[in-house]
Amino acid sequence: MFLSVLKAYFAFVMSEVRAKKHFGQHFLTDRNIAKKIALSLEARGYSNVLEIGPGMGILTGFLIDRNFENFKVVEIDREASDYIDRKFNNLEIIKGDFLRLDLNSCFDGKMGIIGNFPYNISSQIFFRVLEYRDKVCELTGMLQKEVADRIVSGPGSKVYGILSVLLQAYYKVEYLFTVPASVFTPPPKVKSAVIRLTRKDIKPVGFNEKLFFSVVKITFNQRRKTIKNSLKPLVDASGIDNELLKKRPEELGVDDFIELTGLVEFMLGNNKMFI
Ligand code: SAH
Repeated sequence: MFLSVLKAYFAFVMSEVRAKKHFGQHFLTDRNIAKKIALSLEARGYSNVLEIGPGMGILTGFLIDRNFENFKVVEIDREASDYIDRKFNNLEIIKGDFLRLDLNSCFDGKMGIIGNFPYNISSQIFFRVLEYRDKVCELTGMLQKEVADRIVSGPGSKVYGILSVLLQAYYKVEYLFTVPASVFTPPPKVKSAVIRLTRKDIKPVGFNEKLFFSVVKITFNQRRKTIKNSLKPLVDASGIDNELLKKRPEELGVDDFIELTGLVEFMLGNNKMFI
């Protein structure tokens, strides 16, 4: 009797989390890769670190070893967060959705983010990071290679887009390494990649950030049109002769977009209706 209770208890403690597709769960099984990811966060100049989606904690263990001053994890899946609770002592677990988390109430001051991200929401994670760009000074993340390629790509590339421009405006973006599908259970259908973002220290004088975001989004949402045409809902540029207006968004680098933002602001004059 005692033995079977003990056995059942042991089975409960050791039972693995069932992988759920709707939470984008693909558990990494290669400890060397996990360690490499955990060590890729440089964590210079800040002491708060948040791991998104610890799952069964393969990265978490290596992150705890790094002894950050404040380390927390956020996990949406109750089964996974209970598992993490049993596996690690004294670990602060936020049981909920990262996309709804108020990072300012999560930590005082600057922070870093790390994780083997749920691929179904990886783009949304990066848009959230952009919202908190003055708080999040570094991020190391594993995501589907296709999205990683998009984020690091430059002008002229077919996959260059909104996330590439917005993230590269604020962060140094590095493609660290590729990870094959075979090191996950269950294996995802696509290859994965690890990237790192490090906050840059830029803010050109008079740079209207809100307008910059609008200009990048509006132009890429109609990427086949010239800038002049896609900006029509925002501003009438018919009388302006500027080379940037004749181009398509994929031809413009980050600095060009910043220059274009200044031009649009000038054209808008005092009409701030749209921004
Ligand atoms: N880090 C683990 C698990 C990766 S799978 C590993 O490398 O093995 C992605 C994890 O993110 C899962 O644990 C999933 O439950 C969690 N997750 C999915 N959506 C989330 C969200 N919105 N907020 C927080 N965690 C989420």
